[in-house]
Amino acid sequence: MKSWKSCTFGERKTRKMETELFEELYLAGCQIRLNAELSEYTTIKIGGPAQAIVFPQTTEAFIKALNILKGREIQYKILGGGSNVIPPKSFHGIVVSTKALTGIEFSGNQVAFDCGMSVRRLLRLVASRGLSGLEFLSGLPGSLGGALFMNAGAFGGEIGNLVEEVTVLGNDLNVRSLKAEEIEFSYRHSSLRDYVILGAILKFDYAKPEKVIREMELVLKRRLEKQPLDQPSAGSTFKRPRNDFYVGTTIEALGLKGLRVGGVEISRKHAGFIVNRGNATQEDVVRLIEKVQELVYLTYDVKLETEVEIWKGGSYA
Ligand SMILES: Cc1cc2nc3c(=O)[nH]c(=O)nc-3n(C[C@H](O)[C@H](O)[C@H](O)COP(=O)(O)OP(=O)(O)OC[C@H]3O[C@@H](n4cnc5c(N)ncnc54)[C@H](O)[C@@H]3O)c2cc1C
Repeated sequence: MKSWKSCTFGERKTRKMETELFEELYLAGCQIRLNAELSEYTTIKIGGPAQAIVFPQTTEAFIKALNILKGREIQYKILGGGSNVIPPKSFHGIVVSTKALTGIEFSGNQVAFDCGMSVRRLLRLVASRGLSGLEFLSGLPGSLGGALFMNAGAFGGEIGNLVEEVTVLGNDLNVRSLKAEEIEFSYRHSSLRDYVILGAILKFDYAKPEKVIREMELVLKRRLEKQPLDQPSAGSTFKRPRNDFYVGTTIEALGLKGLRVGGVEISRKHAGFIVNRGNATQEDVVRLIEKVQELVYLTYDVKLETEVEIWKGGSYA
């Protein structure tokens, strides 16, 4: 970084504004990491530096941080477990991580969670109390907020089916509670995408803890058999375009398993996944995605949409 003395007037002004911003975020209750490498926060291990990652320590601090960023018109992204996103080589903005927001409150078979609670921990906590219903998500990386955002699902189940209520922050920066019937959930989509998710109440069935744990282990075993969990990835690359069109099987039938672009390749274990083989970039992923989309379109006349989220707001350079 340039010394203060050698900075131009414009650079000094920018630095002063940055310092003021970080002071404000810190006083609001956020921890801050400057020039943080996003690859450290994504499961596919891709992403260069962001201006900063801020970690609100409470929901109140989360709301304050978003107010500050919006008020200053600063570009920001919310990051949960980073298991569905592919950030660029550099991100010119602030990333707000929900990692520290892990509150939990039990009330019979209804449980309130803060948005940053990891789905894996959530499952362990409810299983030990004999609360059943979400076992199908066993082994799913990421946070509750990320799972609700895209109505995460597996093996025929979807998290939306357990939702009682979700607390959100609207674009107007007002907090409100949405009842299940006010939220639309569909395949890998929810109307919660229009909000910041602060927390949710999920409703479970009662069951014996051993039964819940056994079911979770079975699901995990199925995942381990099928998915490349030992390699960095962001899960299924594409959404299923229709119920009877299996993307992984189709890509495999096209002989694309192992197809490589730069540091990424189509997984040899499950063709629906793109895995990072080392030093991969967002650009590699995008180029590989485009190749697959083109071949699938030419062969089957089907347009594949990505399930993974390619972050904009940065540069490849
Ligand atoms: C090995 C592997 C297996 C996977 N298997 C599955 C599977 O079986 N089924 C499935 O559905 N997915 C699967 N995924 C994808 C991913 O784990 C899920 O989509 C997960 O729910 C994403 O949660 P996250 O916290 O990591 O979200 P992130 O990747 O951090 O974020 C995803 C999006 O959610 C937004 N977001 C996150 N938190 C909030 C919040 N509090 N408020 C508003 N927006 C928010 C982010 O801004 C971003 O737009 C898999 C991924 C991997 C790596």
